[in-house]
Amino acid sequence: MKFSMKLVLSTMIVLALALGFSGFYFVNYVFETSLEREVGQALDESSILSFAFETAALNVPLKYSVLPDSVVEEIASKLEMGGQSGGRLLRIADEEKNILYTSSGFTTDEGLLPQTDQHTKSYRVIRAQDSFYVHTCVSINALNRILYLETMKDVTGVFTERALGFSLYRKVTIVMLLTGMVVMLFIASFLTKPIRLLTQATRKMAAGDYAYRARQISRDELGQLTGDFNRMANALEETICKLEEEIEAREEFMGAFAHELKTPLTAIIGYADMLRSHKMDEEKSILSANYIYTEGKRLEAMSFRLLDIIVAKQEEANLQETSVGELFAYLREMFAEKKEQDIRFAYEEAVVWMEENLIKTVLVNLIDNACKASETGGGADGAGSDTAGVVEVSGKAADGGYRIAVKDYGIGIPEAEQNKIVKAFYMVDKSRARSKNGAGLGLALCAEILKIHHSELQIESKVGEGSCFSFLLSTHEKRDGESYI
Ligand code: ADP
Repeated sequence: MKFSMKLVLSTMIVLALALGFSGFYFVNYVFETSLEREVGQALDESSILSFAFETAALNVPLKYSVLPDSVVEEIASKLEMGGQSGGRLLRIADEEKNILYTSSGFTTDEGLLPQTDQHTKSYRVIRAQDSFYVHTCVSINALNRILYLETMKDVTGVFTERALGFSLYRKVTIVMLLTGMVVMLFIASFLTKPIRLLTQATRKMAAGDYAYRARQISRDELGQLTGDFNRMANALEETICKLEEEIEAREEFMGAFAHELKTPLTAIIGYADMLRSHKMDEEKSILSANYIYTEGKRLEAMSFRLLDIIVAKQEEANLQETSVGELFAYLREMFAEKKEQDIRFAYEEAVVWMEENLIKTVLVNLIDNACKASETGGGADGAGSDTAGVVEVSGKAADGGYRIAVKDYGIGIPEAEQNKIVKAFYMVDKSRARSKNGAGLGLALCAEILKIHHSELQIESKVGEGSCFSFLLSTHEKRDGESYI
């Protein structure tokens, strides 16, 4: 059964019980009050009748010292006739409780007589056929005799009113329950709307529509639940997107890897086949062997780089306080041999948190790339200008950390390529990169190393003007989840 139906049903049960009990109590209260009033009137009437009887007995001729039965009957008959339409119902009994006079229609038994004496009045409510009566009994002291007067007052009207009251209340209850049910259906439908929207959202998401969100239409507990559900859905969608991106990146990586393997392998196999199947002169043999050697070397370099990337991916950060001066001194020494390139170093002394060897690898890669990009003198200023072949390596405090940048005035990178070049095997100009022994793995390695330093590469570049690769390192120990980007 639907939750809204359960809500309607339970409300109906409560409403029915409340209406039933209150109706019963109300109708019964009215009935009891009316019956009490009727009983009071019946008792008053029987007192008046007994007084009237005693007064009539005083007028009996003096010859009787005791009221004879015949006079009793006579007075009783007169009293009976004195009632409203149809006369009164009464019965007279003597001191021995023998019946002396009975009105026709006075049908009840003599149950009250034994309970009544000279000093007490008694009454009861009785049912005779389809009618109800208040049956009273009082004593009369008339001319040296004690008599008992019984009366029957018809109170059927009070009972009929009660039956009518119940019947009316039943009808009112049914109408109210039906109206209440219709109203409750609307209310339940309104109250359970957030649940329906949530169900719809879960179904949509289960069917693969991860971007679908439940509409939040209230601020109560159900509204909060919807909010929490949407937050959970956001987190889920983010994780799924990340996973999808990761799968896509892995597939891309596999494709590019296979492709990069194929080129040197084809050359190696081709030249090796030539060597074993043809008798070639010495010069050609040396040339073939040389191709096999250089392509083999390329493969070896690629496999080392890949290994470095895999190691960097799995590496736990072991950051230590390192003097920037030492780092720059190492770089200066390393590139001192590169006379054809004007590499300029400028830095502010600082102590930075890093894993020195890894950051050295990043900088060597970036400087290498900058040198390669500057080699042709493709800068806007052209060869021979002040900045031709210049590579600037700088370090200074910035953005709450320490920024190291490698800037060149070389060929630059088209804007559309800038966010792709950190992907493994990506090369802007493949033949140019391969001619310089590149395999598109250097920046991918840099990105992985910077990831474990909670940093990332920032690339600013303009075609024909040059590029600037920079990254931020921390000058204080990093706390969990903290990032400097
Ligand atoms: P590679 O081994 O080919 O240098 P990288 O991952 O280091 O691989 O670089 C990827 C590509 O990004 C390079 O092939 C090159 O096209 C481009 N690139 C990297 N650095 C620069 C730079 N400073 N100027 C212009 N292009 C660059």
